[in-house]
Amino acid sequence: PQSPASPMSKQSEIPGVAAVIAVASGKGGVGKSTTALNLALGLRDLGLRVGLLDADIYGPSVPRLTGIHEKPALDDNRKMIPIQRFGLSIMSIGFLVEEDTAMIWRGPMVMSAITQMLRDVAWGTLDILVVDMPPGTGDAQLTLAQNVPLKGAVIISTPQDLSLIDARRGLAMFRKVNVPVLGIVENMSYFQCPECGTRSDIFGHGGARHEAERLGVPFLGEIPLHMSIRTSSDAGNPVVASEPDGPHAAIYRAIGVQVR
Ligand code: ADP
Repeated sequence: PQSPASPMSKQSEIPGVAAVIAVASGKGGVGKSTTALNLALGLRDLGLRVGLLDADIYGPSVPRLTGIHEKPALDDNRKMIPIQRFGLSIMSIGFLVEEDTAMIWRGPMVMSAITQMLRDVAWGTLDILVVDMPPGTGDAQLTLAQNVPLKGAVIISTPQDLSLIDARRGLAMFRKVNVPVLGIVENMSYFQCPECGTRSDIFGHGGARHEAERLGVPFLGEIPLHMSIRTSSDAGNPVVASEPDGPHAAIYRAIGVQVR
């Protein structure tokens, strides 16, 4: 089903890909990439065939989060073959350019980079393609919305006011381009001490749930600020893969159930 992004857009589905979900945030550093990868793994755990596209062209973090540092091979049609890891088909702009290269993209380059990552990749058959978007509301978001029919967007926010305001802006943008907002996830919702398990609401927990209710969009769940989410990410072995029976994996799977 085509969703009318704009009368000018040339929207078409990616052959073999049943649904595309964007993971977005108003600003950087709220845990968008960490959540996108772990959500993709949670969806995999539900028995779905899942791809992850790291379209964060300004700061691709999927190479670091997955430990993948290889260039994708080309198939007979000269399409890039996504890297297989953790049972996911993974593609990142970071596989193609050095991660520490400051990427200064201009509008048309942003659009062509996003389009190529969607179209020039041999995605195969996927139930869901999770797209880790750059933070904010710019050319990349518009290009994605105009290029493929999106099942919807998941917005990641911390409980803090500032990032809530930014999340609100993201919400408004997706609504403007007719992309359904699947809901808001509160990341770093509360601190859970890895030693004693005591919980403290460092950033004032619950802000995103409240905001979701106010805006009339689903609230998808709370992810704690926890040491093992950070350390597993830094080790290139995300928490859903490294601690599949742990409490965090269960949270990401529960979010997956709501967005699949
Ligand atoms: P973004 O994609 O929004 O810029 P990242 O996913 O790169 O953010 O996360 C920023 C930092 O916060 C990373 O070091 C990551 O490991 C850490 N982080 C993200 N979510 C959590 C969490 N729930 N608990 C602990 N650390 C987290």
